Amino acid sequence: MARFETKVLIIGAGPAGYTAAIYAARANLKPVLVTGIQPGGQLTTTTGVENFPGFAEAVQGPELMDQMRQQAEHVGTGIIYDTITSVDLSQDPIVAQGDSGDVYLADTLIIATGAQAKWLGRPGEADYSGYGISACAVCDGFFYRGKEVVVIGGGNTAVEEALYLTNHASKVTLVHRRDSLRAEPIMQDRLFAHSKIDVMWNTEIVAFLGKDQPSPRLTGLRLHDRTTGTESVIAVDGAFVAIGHDPATALFRGQLDMTDDGYIKISQWSTATSRKNVWSAGDVSDDRYKQAVVAAGMGCMAALEAEKYLADRASPAANRPPVGIPQLVA
Ligand code: NDP
Repeated sequence: MARFETKVLIIGAGPAGYTAAIYAARANLKPVLVTGIQPGGQLTTTTGVENFPGFAEAVQGPELMDQMRQQAEHVGTGIIYDTITSVDLSQDPIVAQGDSGDVYLADTLIIATGAQAKWLGRPGEADYSGYGISACAVCDGFFYRGKEVVVIGGGNTAVEEALYLTNHASKVTLVHRRDSLRAEPIMQDRLFAHSKIDVMWNTEIVAFLGKDQPSPRLTGLRLHDRTTGTESVIAVDGAFVAIGHDPATALFRGQLDMTDDGYIKISQWSTATSRKNVWSAGDVSDDRYKQAVVAAGMGCMAALEAEKYLADRASPAANRPPVGIPQLVA
């Protein structure tokens, strides 16, 4: 069992975690980054990434994340392949326990544990994920120019995705399991008014259908009409599953302020959490943009904020009594 002591502990190895590591390492803080079970995060399950600046040609998600890992390592980050199983934020230094049995003691913590898109878990979904099935219209909508796509879900995300996809697709069908949407009324108005969008009510996905040769590709959906009880098959070029996200915040429940949806609350224009030595960056706090480049930016902010906190704490001024309180003179 090893024991690591660090000024900056970063949990999570997606764009937010690696960017925080690059900035903290370049500030000579010798950060330790613990990767979790999916080093590289959500981008490791993505194929071509066309919206991360700096790559004229689409870069493969795993390749982009591998480059970020190497960059973080080259500038001095200690990367540890372990999964944090418990954290005690009430202690100073913060104590984190790894699945390996290793213990991490940290003056500051940057949480970059990300979020996972929720999936339907229906047959074919895993087979064609990345080959016609996506959970991010902004990331993948561009590949569906002039094509017919389906969005599954009835919340704000599903409606936003459907509206966004009209920029590319020739037709968008929103498939929802009930007879009303939970999206905000103004979003619903925009959806219903759009000439490219149809809604299929009371409809569930039974299976994702596709072909496997010459390469995997989604070709259609088997649907169940809950009103009539009948099944049907429709042809589609793409399906966007938009039934919500699960932020990876279980470790911090009861220790940090969170939103009703379980995201870690941060201040506006800052990654500060409800604890002075903990920052939170990327999708674990971002229920709005959910983009790699935004996560990377938040990782940068978190590292700069942690650096400032450590510098302030180390400065002699931090140990001086507050101005204005009379001092006893010996
Ligand atoms: P929501 O939880 O609001 O909606 C999820 C949708 O997916 C619901 O319509 C739900 O159906 C459906 N669903 C869930 N599970 C299944 C399933 N197994 N099969 C079929 N359908 C399913 O998630 P969102 O991601 O839409 O939104 C999350 C939060 O983020 C919300 O608070 C939302 O308002 C906010 N948000 C805000 C935005 C903005 O302000 N611009 C943009 C995007 C999100 P049912 O309705 O039947 O439960």
